[in-house]
Amino acid sequence: MFVADAMLKKLARWLRLLGVEALYPESIDDNDILEFTKKNKKILLTMDSELCRRARKQGMSVFLIPRRSTEEQLVLLIKRFKLDISDAPSKVLCPLCNGTLKQVGKKDVKTKVAPEILSKHDVFWVCKKCKKIFWEGSHWERIRRNVEKVKSMLND
Ligand SMILES: [Zn+2]
Repeated sequence: MFVADAMLKKLARWLRLLGVEALYPESIDDNDILEFTKKNKKILLTMDSELCRRARKQGMSVFLIPRRSTEEQLVLLIKRFKLDISDAPSKVLCPLCNGTLKQVGKKDVKTKVAPEILSKHDVFWVCKKCKKIFWEGSHWERIRRNVEKVKSMLND
């Protein structure tokens, strides 16, 4: 759905955690970013008004992100694009690579996570793309809290 420029990596990770596809190019060069966005047929997110202007000139979809907190930026995007956000683990995209997650059981990850984590959790998710393993630990709690915060801001 979106391509975020290098300044918006945090926002991109948050979009993924909410189940919204967000890519970012490795390059910080404006031409590369424009090329990458065009090639992937996405909407460009940037805080750079010059880059925004160039993207518009090339007929691309672009959204100029204001300098605000990540939560406020998320709220703006959700409203503007009527995003269907979800914190359901089955919909979450890998915050590292935008890959989809697959739910797996203890036995699938037993050689890959620490024993103390294995003993405390029954459900795990593996990113199909980068193979990173996630579980509903403290990290997930923090995600939930932030999602709740964003949702409450949506209702204001
Ligand atoms: Zn991944």
